[in-house]
Formats: sequence, structure tokens, C-alpha cells
Amino acid sequence: MTVVAVVGAQWGDEGKGKVIEAIAPKAALVVQYAGGYSPGQTLVAEGERFVLHVVPSGSLRSGKSCLLAQGMALDPRLVLEELEILETHGALAGDLRIDQRAQVVLPHHIALDQLREESEGASGSPRRGIGPAYMDAVGRRGIRMGDLLVPDGLEGRIAASIEASAHALRELGAPIPDAKQVLDEYVAAGEKLRSRIVDGSRLILDLRASGEMVVLEGPFGTMVDQDHGYYPFVVGASTVAGGACTGTGISPKAIDRVIGVAKAYITRPGLGPLPSEVTGDLASTLQDRGGELSPTSARPRRCGMFDVPVLRYSARVNGFDELALTKLDVLSGLDEIPVCVGYELDGDVRDEPPFEGQSRMQPLTEMLPGWTEPLSDCRAWEELPANARGYVEFIERNSGVRITLVSVGPDKAQTIRRDVD
Ligand code: GDP
Repeated sequence: MTVVAVVGAQWGDEGKGKVIEAIAPKAALVVQYAGGYSPGQTLVAEGERFVLHVVPSGSLRSGKSCLLAQGMALDPRLVLEELEILETHGALAGDLRIDQRAQVVLPHHIALDQLREESEGASGSPRRGIGPAYMDAVGRRGIRMGDLLVPDGLEGRIAASIEASAHALRELGAPIPDAKQVLDEYVAAGEKLRSRIVDGSRLILDLRASGEMVVLEGPFGTMVDQDHGYYPFVVGASTVAGGACTGTGISPKAIDRVIGVAKAYITRPGLGPLPSEVTGDLASTLQDRGGELSPTSARPRRCGMFDVPVLRYSARVNGFDELALTKLDVLSGLDEIPVCVGYELDGDVRDEPPFEGQSRMQPLTEMLPGWTEPLSDCRAWEELPANARGYVEFIERNSGVRITLVSVGPDKAQTIRRDVD
């Protein structure tokens, strides 16, 4: 197993970081293949607490090298800021590389995103300009990280990108940035990052050829993928396993394994369909025990019962070879645990999310027996209570996806591997 894609099977926050630490402690490279601003990884260094949004602080701190791949949209100023925090606090053990083809987030992308959030209402998005930067990329106006190293003609291209948004900026009452000022600031940032800007596809394939392990980490989860999520409640990025190819520039044949990550229940940030949503005591229990708070708004995340149709769909779209099920420990103490096994839509039973009709469909629920014992000290499959094993086996049987890893706590040691071959 050399190149492994790790993909969120639900709406994100499934615990992909923890799973990567558990399965790939010796990975030569961890690659972020899309996105550009995560809700945040908390870093505690020398007694101070920081929340980092772009630089993969956990992996870098543990000595792994990381690549921000071409499928990302990056604000180079923020990358520098976060690198400085890690360096200053002695927490930069690994090497950070950035693909020359990654899109650049410019100040007007951020302004557009933030002003739209204010005018359209809270969507839960951090609004750091990623969506508008991707729109410029599709519109062939994008600036790429490698462009910052060759400034000839760049001012005109930045001006063209600003001009394309000028009407919207004026309507929202925002100032129009000065292209020359942007050029100077961004070229200076690019210069500081020069030694880190590489051809990422080449880097990954060279490591693969020498037998090293490379992990390709997807952002968010399948249900917010630009194309395959519950459109239009999606992000601008390709979060699915296919996005790992376009987001890095390697062939599908160079991905040796696709691992899905699903939480033992569901959470979703922001608006949009959540067919298995729960409210009341069950929601509060999952929010409290699971620490399900949005780092951006500090509001509790919407929670739901495990949604088997979502996993069936996600397995189909991503081609999971296996699944890691996280946060099983959060369910301890529930008498009974509801699981969504299908949907009723206009009198029909659906076993996967439908193309339309999400607001009319009703979840079909089965109740499974719960368990009282805490799971956080369990280290082997046999140590789990029978009903906890039954819960995992139920999901596996009903989704057709092999669950090879069960996580019972945030620490990488709190991981149970299952040999199901
Ligand atoms: P990612 O974006 O998919 O990597 O997910 P997050 O970084 O949002 O991880 C979710 C949170 O859950 C993190 O704080 C993890 O430390 C924590 N976590 C991961 N796996 C488990 C688990 O099995 N049990 C518990 N209780 N927490 C976990």
C-alpha cells in the first residue's frame, strides 16, 4: 500500500486527521488535495493555543512532510502567518510544500465572500475567499502560486481578476483593491515561499516509485462535494476520491487504496438537507459528548442518526476499499440507538439519497440496542461490548462496506483494527 486516499464519507469532520495518524504514522507525505481553509486544527505549543486553518499543523508537528496540492485555493499570506506560528513555537518538524498550480486567493475574493455572507445570512461557511477563487479559476482568470514567482505581466492579470468582480464589489459597497498594491504584497509573499513551491504531481509519483507511503487527504466530506453532494448546498471543491486525481495531477491507477471515514452518527455544518437529523435530548447528547461545536461560529453542529443510504452512495461514488468508523465511544450510555436505513419519498422506498425531493423525504429508522460501558479503553474488537460490535456489523451489513478500523477516542492509540478478510 503506497498511495492511499482518505475521504470523508459524510459531511466532513469525520475524524480523518485521527485516522491518518493511526494508519500512516510513517507516511513520507500527507497531501491536501482540495479546499483551502478548514474550520481549524487546534495547536497547543509552549502553553499557547492556536487555531490553524491552512497549514496541516498536526502532521507537520509529528515530523511528516505535507503538500498543499494543485486542487487547493490558497492565501499565501495566511500560509506564511501559520508557518511563522509553527516555526516560532518549535512545532515545524516536517517540511511544507505547495504545488505551483494551486490557485491564489486574492483580497477581493475574501471581500466578496464575506460581504455575501453578511447580505445572504449565515451559511456556516468560513468565507475566506475559496469559492470566488475557484470561480476565477474556472473563468480562466485565476492566478496560480507559481505565477507569483514570475511577476512579468502579473499586474495586468490581477487587474483583470479584480475587474471581473468590480461590479459585485461596488454593489456590496466594498472598495476596489489596487492591483499594484496586491501585486507587491503577493509577490513578496510568493518570494518568501519560493523554496516550497514545487511540481506536486512529480513529488508524489517519485515517492511512490521509491516505495514510500503517501496519503491523499480530502477536505470536508462527500455530501458537500461540488458535483456529487446535495447541490447546491456544497463547497467549491472536489472532495471525493476522483478529486484526489485532479487535485494532485496523478492518475487513478496511481492510487492504491481508497479509505472512507464515517462518524458513528452524522453531523453537518451549515444549511442544507440532513434527512436523519435528530433534535431534543439525543441531539444534545451527541453535541455534548462528541464535542460537536462549529469552530467558526461556536454553535452546536446539527446532528443526525447514522445514515446508511448516505454511506451506500458515498461508497459508490468513491469506490471505498474499506471504511474507518470513528467516535463510536460517543454513543455509550444510550438505551437504544436509531439508525436511518432508507427514505420514504412520495410513497416509494429509496435506499440512496435521491436526486431531488430531499425536503419531502422521511427517514426509515431501525432501533438498535445500546450499551452502557465506556469504550475509550478498548483496544481489540473482542473488548467491545456485544451491542457495540452489533452496531458496527449492522452498518457494515446494510451498506456493503467493510469496516476495518473502529475509533474509540481522539488519541491514535484509541483505535481498533479489524481483520475482516
Ligand atoms: P476531520 O476534519 O475529518 O479530520 O475531523 P476533525 O478534525 O473535525 O476531527 C473531529 C474531532 O473528533 C477531532 O477533535 C478529533 O480529535 C476527534 N475524534 C476523532 N476520532 C475520535 C473518536 O473516535 N472519538 C472521539 N471522542 N473523538 C474523536
